[in-house]
Amino acid sequence: MAVDITTDLSVVRNIGIMAHIDAGKTTTTERILFYTGINYKIGDTHEGSATMDWMEQEQERGITITSAATTCWWKKHQINIIDTPGHVDFTVEVERSLRVLDGAVAVFDGVAGVEPQSMTVWRQANKYQVPRMCFVNKLDRTGADFYRVVETIVSKLNATPLILQLPIGAEGDFEGVVDLVEMNAKVWRGETKTGEDYVVEEIPADLADKAAEYREKLVETLAEADDATMEVYLEDGDTFDVPTLKAAIRRATLAGELNPILCGTAFKNKGVQPLLDAVVDYLPSPMDIEAIVGHKPNDEEVEIKRKPSDDEPLSALAFKIATDPHLGKLIYVRVYSGKLEAGGTVLNASNGRKERIGKVYQMHANKREEIASVGAGQIVAVMGLKDTKTGHTLSDQQNPVVLESMTFPAPVIEVA
Ligand code: GDP
Repeated sequence: MAVDITTDLSVVRNIGIMAHIDAGKTTTTERILFYTGINYKIGDTHEGSATMDWMEQEQERGITITSAATTCWWKKHQINIIDTPGHVDFTVEVERSLRVLDGAVAVFDGVAGVEPQSMTVWRQANKYQVPRMCFVNKLDRTGADFYRVVETIVSKLNATPLILQLPIGAEGDFEGVVDLVEMNAKVWRGETKTGEDYVVEEIPADLADKAAEYREKLVETLAEADDATMEVYLEDGDTFDVPTLKAAIRRATLAGELNPILCGTAFKNKGVQPLLDAVVDYLPSPMDIEAIVGHKPNDEEVEIKRKPSDDEPLSALAFKIATDPHLGKLIYVRVYSGKLEAGGTVLNASNGRKERIGKVYQMHANKREEIASVGAGQIVAVMGLKDTKTGHTLSDQQNPVVLESMTFPAPVIEVA
């Protein structure tokens, strides 16, 4: 039976995972789907699903990402992962996917650091002011060097990194991270492809000085980016509790002032759960995003704004057309405002044609779920649209708006 998705927007994260080819985007995404699958159980979602079913399916089929947007759940938060094409040839597609996501995780190879394609996508994300975190992956590889990668993030991306973790051990001996926010160690030992499988320990003695040094750097960098933190820091020093520090990191990340840095090895299943925690803690919800600006059909001069609210007239952007082996043609849309209802009629404001919405689906790693109606901030796949292409806007019939101009995308900023 089709369900209504009336999620509290504050628990939604629409994110993309971006990387240079081979840095580990696919592996990281698969591990995210694995860990969130384990946690996809009653209480985490409106519907609930037995953990075992999911595990069995996963074992049978392996997890693959087959859709342009995949929904998963982590600690009562709904994470929609939007596929960001990794190859520069698909620049228009990259730009369009960057428009529909609210935050991103950039994955870097722990040996190679920042590579050319990561630079291109990073600059494109700058253009859309997408708040971003970095995951320094592959720290198990010979020659991996977390600190050198952070240097390339500064020198090649001109970013302000906020180092939230330090690696414990290196290469084959990499075993976990020092968490500089909670000031503890998270260590993965033995066979790690299970649920909450890291142990929380004291920071190892040989890393204590380094951890203290980097904690000071963290708070100073944060204070420079965030006035409220600076005031307290000047007055009382580093007396921050974990929730206060997390709130400050979130503010500064959303403001685009800095980029939290985490690390691990997706392949060896180390670091992925803290990465998911950070997505929830530091990346924006659709509520944090400013009203989207579109224009009147046939008149780009007349601006129209739509707030991320179910009470506004419908506006939704079609961002990807895909062919599903079972369902046929699916069009992925992001709803910016209002409600999209299965069986309803909307206006394609980009071509002036009425469209009937067929079935609406939320896509998961291992299944799809039929949705009766979906509200602002959500990303779904729609069946049955006849004349809608990527870049088109679906609107309320009485209140048409075009979200993407005919001249999209703006010229790509060249890599220096
Ligand atoms: P993508 O092109 O960015 O999607 O990269 P993939 O996820 O396909 O990974 C590229 C290759 O690197 C594959 O052979 C992965 O198994 C490997 N890989 C991914 N993550 C890690 C890691 O953390 N450590 C090591 N050693 N290899 C990894």
